[in-house]
Amino acid sequence: MATNFPHLLAHVRGAARFFLDAWHGLLIRRSQVRALVGEPNSRRYAHAHPPGWPRIFTAGVYLLALTACGEPVEWQDNHGYGWYYNAVTASGWKVRWDEVVTEATPAYLSDVNFYETTWQRMRECTGMDGPPAFIVAKPLAYIQARYGPNIGGYYHRNPPLLVIDETAWVLRHEQGHHVQLYTTGDSDHDHHHPMFKTDGCTFTVGFP
Ligand SMILES: [Zn+2]
Repeated sequence: MATNFPHLLAHVRGAARFFLDAWHGLLIRRSQVRALVGEPNSRRYAHAHPPGWPRIFTAGVYLLALTACGEPVEWQDNHGYGWYYNAVTASGWKVRWDEVVTEATPAYLSDVNFYETTWQRMRECTGMDGPPAFIVAKPLAYIQARYGPNIGGYYHRNPPLLVIDETAWVLRHEQGHHVQLYTTGDSDHDHHHPMFKTDGCTFTVGFP
């Protein structure tokens, strides 16, 4: 989060990651196909199909791989975060916080009602709505290593996932992207909506 430009950069990186992962996924499948049909793992065979039925089988598996290549491996595992969670809020949000909660972090981080209340206030403030999604709290250092040096949180779609840091300060911001995506069809990654102004909902929605 922080400023708009780094956030935009993170989105660009996300798009690049999408295509790299799609390519990587195909490479993985190619090696799996080789293992299945017993194709020797050599440069010569990397560009040649084995004869007979293995060739047909290979073509079939490639076809399956191609039809599935829009969903990179990472996205098939909740954007690489997996599906483990600590609690489910009253309206169905799944939240994982145990990787960041320590004696030094705010108590609300491990309070399931905090996440529910923030979401309900966001709905009331914006007049928008959306389905419950997944929230994962990660150390800020992890987030910045993955998304960029000035990024404090990230909103993934398909499936919707809100990544927040150990202060949860960006929770409202990422919920702002989520509520817009499911109300207008656009997550507003350039932050044009008034909710992202300093007197807007993503700032004025209160913490406990
Ligand atoms: Zn944003």
